[in-house]
Amino acid sequence: MTLNDDWVTEICEDGGSAFSLRKSEKVFDRQSDYQRVEVYQTDTYGKLMMIDGCTMVSSRENFIYHEMISHPALFLHPDPRHVAIIGGGDCGTLCEVLKHTEVEKAIQIDIDAVVTEAALAHFPELCSANSDPRAELLFSDGIQWIKRAPAASLDLIIVDSTDPVGPGEVLFTAEFYAACHSALRQGGLIVQQSESPLIHLPVIERMYRRLAGAGFGDARTLFFPQPIYPTGWWSATIGGKGNDLTGFREGDAMEPPFETSYYNAEIHCAAFAEPAFFKTARSEWLTASDVPE
Ligand code: SAM
Repeated sequence: MTLNDDWVTEICEDGGSAFSLRKSEKVFDRQSDYQRVEVYQTDTYGKLMMIDGCTMVSSRENFIYHEMISHPALFLHPDPRHVAIIGGGDCGTLCEVLKHTEVEKAIQIDIDAVVTEAALAHFPELCSANSDPRAELLFSDGIQWIKRAPAASLDLIIVDSTDPVGPGEVLFTAEFYAACHSALRQGGLIVQQSESPLIHLPVIERMYRRLAGAGFGDARTLFFPQPIYPTGWWSATIGGKGNDLTGFREGDAMEPPFETSYYNAEIHCAAFAEPAFFKTARSEWLTASDVPE
């Protein structure tokens, strides 16, 4: 069956798959210095943002991703006060981070102001915390910013980036992780969207190796559904600078002073449960030391 113009489609070449949503119109289309940003009005998922032809955010289901890229790491950290979000230009992650009252400062560094312009126009619900006095929005290449960040100045770095291609590629390099390690305080954490465990296992493997090479003593991956991304099954990988990634502030997570729609203490525990194939693969990563970069 061929799809007509009533549908917007992302084709995932490496997955040999495609994802389509029925749409009524395109409401935003801008080629920035870095990427093409489009927003569509869809029939059943609200607005849909795409960057360079890849689905990014939909009104209907972005809560899953934004809650899972932020709350597990925030509740894993004993006292997260200074947070940097690299990428995240739709501002949904910033909104979740600032629900945590112990956070004193959240700096969002996205390379492309056009993404935030599109979000302000078409995803205002994701931008509701932008005027929080603790928020700071910068537009810069995340690797350049983190290399200039003062040593031991951050408790948590959230890398909410595009895929490891184009402008996002540098955010998956050993150089980037080394700069993150330096910018984090002892006990600090990095959490990064780590693609689909079903078709991008080599990406996750490289992340584990590069995080270990940068000095992160431990790493863990959490899994969650992500309906509009290739395979519908996504992950985030957390690296720890001298802390244990198993214990979390369970009491705080059980009774948070804010609303969530997906994350809770049970989901926190379940999300870190490793599928059998992943557990096997991970055990090989942690023993072999000569896997090519
Ligand atoms: N996956 C998120 C979600 O599901 O809601 C959306 C991801 S967010 C739109 C990805 C962001 O990464 C984009 O805004 C893009 O501009 C940003 N980005 C890509 N490369 C970057 C870099 N080198 N430095 C900073 N931001 C970057």
